Amino acid sequence: MSHRTERDAIVVGAGPNGLAAAVALAREGLDVLVIEGAAKPGGGTRTAELTLPGFRHDVCSTVHPLAAVSPFLASLPLHKHGLEWIEPPLPCAHPLADRPAALLTRDPGSTAAGLGNDGPAWTGLVDPLLEHWSDLLPDLLGPLHRPRYPRAMARFGLLGLRPATVIARRFREDGARALWAGLCAHSFLPLEQSPSAAIGLVLALTGHASGWPIARGGSGMITEALAAHLVTLGGEIHTGSRVSRLEELPTARAVLLNVTPRQLLSIGREKLPARYVRRLERYRYGPAAFKLDYALAEPVPWTDPMCARASTVHLGGTLEDVATAERSCARGEMPARPFVLFSQPTAFDAGRAPAGRHVGWAYAHVPHGWPGDATDMIETQIERFAPGFKDLILERIARGPRALEQDNPNLVGGDINGGALDLRQLFARPTGLLDPYKTPVEGLFLCSSSTPPGGGVHGMCGWHAARSVLRKVFGRRATPLTSLRRPWAGASMST
Ligand SMILES: Cc1cc2nc3c(=O)[nH]c(=O)nc-3n(C[C@H](O)[C@H](O)[C@H](O)COP(=O)(O)OP(=O)(O)OC[C@H]3O[C@@H](n4cnc5c(N)ncnc54)[C@H](O)[C@@H]3O)c2cc1C
Repeated sequence: MSHRTERDAIVVGAGPNGLAAAVALAREGLDVLVIEGAAKPGGGTRTAELTLPGFRHDVCSTVHPLAAVSPFLASLPLHKHGLEWIEPPLPCAHPLADRPAALLTRDPGSTAAGLGNDGPAWTGLVDPLLEHWSDLLPDLLGPLHRPRYPRAMARFGLLGLRPATVIARRFREDGARALWAGLCAHSFLPLEQSPSAAIGLVLALTGHASGWPIARGGSGMITEALAAHLVTLGGEIHTGSRVSRLEELPTARAVLLNVTPRQLLSIGREKLPARYVRRLERYRYGPAAFKLDYALAEPVPWTDPMCARASTVHLGGTLEDVATAERSCARGEMPARPFVLFSQPTAFDAGRAPAGRHVGWAYAHVPHGWPGDATDMIETQIERFAPGFKDLILERIARGPRALEQDNPNLVGGDINGGALDLRQLFARPTGLLDPYKTPVEGLFLCSSSTPPGGGVHGMCGWHAARSVLRKVFGRRATPLTSLRRPWAGASMST
């Protein structure tokens, strides 16, 4: 690698958190270099022609509820660099056999109306938290600390720190129970385990507060906007340089690693104190994703047409079905009917495929590192709720845990969250409560989703890591985020 020497900061990895950290430092006037191993920046936020010419697929993320509420992303002029959000009419649909799909809508009242007798229980769950949503957000999207609004946080904690199945006792009917189960299953935890409810609550609340948007043109546009903004701030990005030893890096006052604990051990074990090594070795990774990307001749033929209006469709059946599937994955056994998430971006963003054609992805939750092929199981789940789907497939590519990890080493064993989101690792991620971004090595920091607040495209891990770097290495405080503005402020949006 030929790099200028003596940078203020080097960031290894150009995922959304690496880029966020780089932007946060560069806008404080620091000289920042980002070194990315892949040919293109973006990590989990890239868009590419994976199947056929003209079909632009999101390599990983498509649906961005957390980007929409990220105080850090909201503070950046990303719209000036071409980022435009599209809000699909519904955040989420959960089809069920022999009854209309359960729908998460923007308006809690209409979600409740669709949930029949469970409507009041739904609003009883979400309304009190929505009242304090803007107070809660900064505390939820950061490391554990004394909350700014303790009462709001206590209310959230009393619900969120429970297992999904305990909260589900508020609901009597299949619709509400299944909708809730699908949201909580994003935690990749057994639904009987805490804090699966916390993830479900955050997703329900983001759905009501600001929707589950997609980026026009694909999630790669988020990366392009972050990277372009970084360059305007004087930062540089070098791609195609996988770092295998810390010693390879040019001299810098701070190094931020957009990697997970296993990679930190691989590239820097000798530099780390034995106690920290042992703690990193105890870090736990969660179940995996098995992803299918489709080029489709037509839109998905959902039995319930409301599913065509949703940003994400959860295919898993009843709460009991979803719970069974998630329990199996956690035990390391492949479920016969896995929980599947389906995204259909061209229903709202036609430009990602040739005229009249579509792209879509489905991913199933599978056991960590699972070596098998889940294609048939996933397509059986889709066909249950969209008969005829298979006839529309022009091309597909399948990537299981190994292929995902080969493409991006942060996806250890196919874990898309940078590590299990169990109770301990929700708070103490990766190793401890006190400044989780700083390692014991002077000037060495972590900024990936293996730090709080964890997985998802929001850049908040990078922002908090940059704050820590500024404090510990440069002896100053980050300029506060001007805005805990309303989501979308300053961003262009279309529905
Ligand atoms: C299939 C899939 C679907 C997803 N769907 C969604 C979704 O719809 N919505 C959502 O919000 N989130 C989604 N996610 C999760 C989201 O993509 C991640 O949480 C997010 O990208 C994590 O950001 P990060 O910056 O911490 O790491 P990553 O995005 O993983 O980026 C890490 C970067 O570091 C680079 N790197 C690693 N090691 C080295 C090294 N040694 N040298 C140089 N470079 C290195 C990698 O190449 C990569 O570019 C999905 C993830 C996957 C895999």
